[in-house]
Amino acid sequence: MEHRVEKRDVDFISVVIPFYNESEQIFMTLETTERVLQTLDIAYEIVAIDDGSVDSTWQELSKYSMKSSNVRAIRLSRNFGKEAAICAGLAEAKGDAVILMDGDLQHPPRYIPEMIALWREGYEVVEGVKTSRGKESRFSRFTANLFYGIFAKLSGIRLKDASDFKLLDRKVVDYWNTFTERDTFFRALSSWMGFKRITFPFEVDERKAGGSKWGFLKLARLSLNAVISFSSRPLILISGLGVIFLVMFFVLAVQTLVRYFGGNAATGFTTVILLQLLIGSIVLISLGLLGLYVASLFREVKGRPRFFIAETTDLNSETEPELDTGSEE
Ligand code: UDP
Ligand code: MG
Repeated sequence: MEHRVEKRDVDFISVVIPFYNESEQIFMTLETTERVLQTLDIAYEIVAIDDGSVDSTWQELSKYSMKSSNVRAIRLSRNFGKEAAICAGLAEAKGDAVILMDGDLQHPPRYIPEMIALWREGYEVVEGVKTSRGKESRFSRFTANLFYGIFAKLSGIRLKDASDFKLLDRKVVDYWNTFTERDTFFRALSSWMGFKRITFPFEVDERKAGGSKWGFLKLARLSLNAVISFSSRPLILISGLGVIFLVMFFVLAVQTLVRYFGGNAATGFTTVILLQLLIGSIVLISLGLLGLYVASLFREVKGRPRFFIAETTDLNSETEPELDTGSEE
């Protein structure tokens, strides 16, 4: 195969890493990543986002960024969630290509050279696909597969084994930054965007320190938001359900009336109670679903910013004057 080396020798690569309460991880993650990047002989920056951590994540990040001028740390004003942290990173990254990576080394930096090589071949989106999901409980695997199954049915986007470990070309990042929606779902949106894509398999490493930062509720919320912001099919499904019930009504109405006039109407409340409960719950669930869409509209219409940057370590940044007073904090 012909090897095209365009003017891509002067590339600048950004690596965006979100951190939430990962203080024990930071040094190892940043150092491992830097070591890989340095073998490549390219210009790079690491954009580390502190997603409103309550431990010493920010202190660790600022300490590290003093040591390494290639690391820029950005602190969000509170915990906005990984999706918002990704948005912040993509907005701040300056590279010709931007690599997104988890902060716990579960997306191993050793794959970075391969990602960059694929990008240099001309691919605009390079996506990591999990070959093994690492150590994960049965339950979490089951719920993940359940979610991906439902999501694929509803939105037509297959995400099984997809991950947030991706490289995006500058062009794609610029387009990403034009999205105005609040409820982003990076994994699916970046696939929805199209462009020249390629996947590469990677093995999920074990988390080096701490535990997963996703509680069950947080994941459930992300999943719900993802479905609702991606598909209006649930709304069509509940209308469909209504039609099915109407058909059932006609059939049962004829049967019931015939029996009634024949003098042997069904007695007992059992049927009535069961039907009441069934219809009642379906109506309530449908209403709730409608409510979720309204809530999502509400969030989108308000159009609040996705995140606020409280502080950065970027010395050249105009928004953040360096305080050089001797005051102790
Ligand atoms: N994360 C974040 N904000 C959050 C939750 C998580 O920035 O509210 C970061 C976290 O620090 C990590 C990445 O997102 O770098 C993936 O999180 P985690 O490893 O907990 O997820 P899992 O690997 O269990 O899916
Ligand atoms: Mg992880």
